[in-house]
Amino acid sequence: MPYEALETIFSLREQIPGFRCIVGCHDCCGPVTVSTDEMARLPRKSDAERDAALSQLSCPHLGAGGCQVYQERPLICRLFGTTPNLPCPNGRRPVYMIEEDVEQRIHQLLRSTRQVLL
Ligand code: SF4
Ligand code: SF4
Repeated sequence: MPYEALETIFSLREQIPGFRCIVGCHDCCGPVTVSTDEMARLPRKSDAERDAALSQLSCPHLGAGGCQVYQERPLICRLFGTTPNLPCPNGRRPVYMIEEDVEQRIHQLLRSTRQVLL
């Protein structure tokens, strides 16, 4: 992966506000598309594992204890709940929602890179 791409992803990650989720909740996890750069940082899942997750409208990295790749979860997963455009269905949110320009830069990045189903 080009160094600049990684640096951009890390920089955007840092600018997404964090907040406390409901313990054990993963209601917003499901089939998501991510950039190939982000995909390359995640453990590989077999076609069978991915098909099984998709058939349940789930994510192949969701385990019994929650997200198994939490430290490396993609930008779209981090964005969830931090913007009125992707509100948490359970009303959780950070004190300050994400800055609009940061959200736009995330979408620009996602639009400018090839997207693959997680
Ligand atoms: S953002 Fe909301 S729906 Fe998603 S895990 Fe957190 S509490 Fe659950
Ligand atoms: S990568 Fe983690 S946070 Fe994102 S959808 Fe999958 S289980 Fe949920």
